[in-house]
Amino acid sequence: MDGTYIAEYVRTRTADTVRRSVERIEASRRDITATRKRRWHTVRGASTSDREVNHLRAQVQRFVNRHELPRVQASYNTAPKLCDACGRSIARGSPEYDIAFVTLTFVFDAECFGVWEEEMGPPKEASS
Ligand SMILES: [Zn+2]
Repeated sequence: MDGTYIAEYVRTRTADTVRRSVERIEASRRDITATRKRRWHTVRGASTSDREVNHLRAQVQRFVNRHELPRVQASYNTAPKLCDACGRSIARGSPEYDIAFVTLTFVFDAECFGVWEEEMGPPKEASS
């Protein structure tokens, strides 16, 4: 199923879809910034230590590829699944981010997606 998905992605990957992906990433970034700030401080009812953040960042970096523009699909979770970076379950109704490179697809929760975006660097269109 993943193979079909990737083939479909490659076939339909035009400049236009890439541009729309970037726009979607930008929209997602705006959408989750508040969520991320709020959730960083409510995970397990305690503040997230720098050590935890660094650990998460290291896990997320395994999924960073600066040489390819990924396809990102943001949605709200409808079936239980685990975040591929931190391994925590994504609660029903919470935002989830399906990210696809040509040879790799994975799903992140909002927190890991935020870190991943930072590690990927700003979209080129975001220059001010
Ligand atoms: Zn995660």
